[in-house]
Amino acid sequence: MPQSIEPQCFAPPPILLQELVNAAPLAISITDPKAHILYVNPAFTRITGYSADEVLGKNSSLLSYQVTPPEVYQQLWQNISHGQPWNGRLVNRRKDGSRYIAELAVSPILDDYSEVRFFLGIHSDVTEIYELTERLQNQKRLTETMIDLAPVAVVLLDEKNEVVLDNHEYRKLMGQFGQEEPVKALLTALQDDLGEASWSAACAAQSFDEHILRFDQAGGVGPKWYAISGQWFVQNTASADGYFTTSSQQYLLLVVTDVSQLKQQQQQQWLTALRAMLSEGELVSRLRETLSAAAYKLAEPVNLIAAAEKRAAGRIPAGDPLLVALHEARQQGEMALQTLQAAMPAHAPEAWRPLNINEILQDVLMLSTEKMLAAGVIVDWQPAMRLPSISGQATALRGALTQLINNAVDAMQEARSRHRELQLSTQENGEWIEVRITDTGPGIPEHLRLRVFEPFFTTRPGGARAGMGLTLAQETIQRHEGCLEIGASIHDGCQIIVRIPTLPVTHSDMSKEEQHG
Ligand code: FAD
Repeated sequence: MPQSIEPQCFAPPPILLQELVNAAPLAISITDPKAHILYVNPAFTRITGYSADEVLGKNSSLLSYQVTPPEVYQQLWQNISHGQPWNGRLVNRRKDGSRYIAELAVSPILDDYSEVRFFLGIHSDVTEIYELTERLQNQKRLTETMIDLAPVAVVLLDEKNEVVLDNHEYRKLMGQFGQEEPVKALLTALQDDLGEASWSAACAAQSFDEHILRFDQAGGVGPKWYAISGQWFVQNTASADGYFTTSSQQYLLLVVTDVSQLKQQQQQQWLTALRAMLSEGELVSRLRETLSAAAYKLAEPVNLIAAAEKRAAGRIPAGDPLLVALHEARQQGEMALQTLQAAMPAHAPEAWRPLNINEILQDVLMLSTEKMLAAGVIVDWQPAMRLPSISGQATALRGALTQLINNAVDAMQEARSRHRELQLSTQENGEWIEVRITDTGPGIPEHLRLRVFEPFFTTRPGGARAGMGLTLAQETIQRHEGCLEIGASIHDGCQIIVRIPTLPVTHSDMSKEEQHG
């Protein structure tokens, strides 16, 4: 058995060191202090094409291709002539004239007086690595430029949802979302919209396609609409850790397109259709209002006659002409009432569906634009950026909210208010959506705050309208399990607060009838 050698006592024999230098894959040269070559190994010949005989005694500069900047050589010599090592990259020329990039390390070898005795040069050909790295860098730059120029927002997220790559269009979104990172707001809204089950399904499928998100904005600006698509993908880790064991990272690539313009066009078309639908609905409502008013007015004398008949029946004998006349009058009155009630046109049945109150109010505002412009009313629209859905009847709600806004505009106009401003805001408050309609009109006196909800009550001089507007609006809101109240007096105006409960389970398409079995 060979004897083991203590590491401390081991000094490699010169033959072993010679073998090592001969077998090394790196070009090794030893020069005098003026860089005249004294020794080269076989790898030097393989890499440069020069045999030892051809280079011995020559200066190392014979390898220079003369494109390396003089500063590089100056730095090299600055270091090595002061006994310091140097390493860097140079462009070398082989014996056959071809060029390569040399990764060179030069170490001075000092004598006992710290004077440079020799230089040891070790270099390798790194042209291929350099080309690959450059090609990769070019590819990366090209991809980044293309992504940057893309007309849609692109953002890449790592597993912690941190942005690792974005583009110009994405950075433009930052203005829209204030302090918040746009992608965080977009992903939260997306998960809210999709609900837990659909979001989990999208994660499992590793992609989702063109989901449209709505974001409302304060002021006179319309809402913003974004179409968002996503794709998850996995990449192997490029670090040494993942060289033998496959370790990977998951990324999410999001593409966001601003589709607000398209949506606005669609909304214009929708508004035209809505206008036609509303004018028909309004006709029915007006007819119902008028007939209700007539029936209400008629009910008063009929009730009086009924009471008189009852009183007379106890005092005068049956068959008395007065009693007969009262009886006939009551019967005629009741028949007339029945005829009026039968003539009342029915409201078209409307389905219950998940609704966004901001969307409804936006419709109402757009429909009322002309009226408000004519009345010189400024609108301050402060919607909540995102609102959960409610379950509702869109047309009925639109009608009720239009009524409330019209009331505010009429009040400001009739009172000849100088400053005519309609503030309209929405917010989520617990399980409720709150809509506040505030005007700068004369307000409603404290003692009339309950009476204004009574049928046919009106504060308008001459009672131009039937006074059913608030009653009907309240009826609609109550049908939505909500409430309508007059807020505490602020300055001189009036504030109407509408509260409607949010959907307990979002994204249900079930109609109310279905929900209630
Ligand atoms: P040079 O006229 O040789 O020198 C350019 C500048 O270098 C000068 O302005 C001067 O500032 C400085 N310089 C040159 N010689 C000295 C010196 N003796 N003392 C102080 N400063 C000096 N070069 C390559 O291009 N490829 C190689 O693979 C390579 N390998 C080398 C290996 C070793 C061990 C050593 C010591 C040097 C090596 N060199 C190599 C550098 C080489 O010696 C030349 O300096 C270089 O090639 C520039 O040559 P040149 O003829 O263009 O200019």
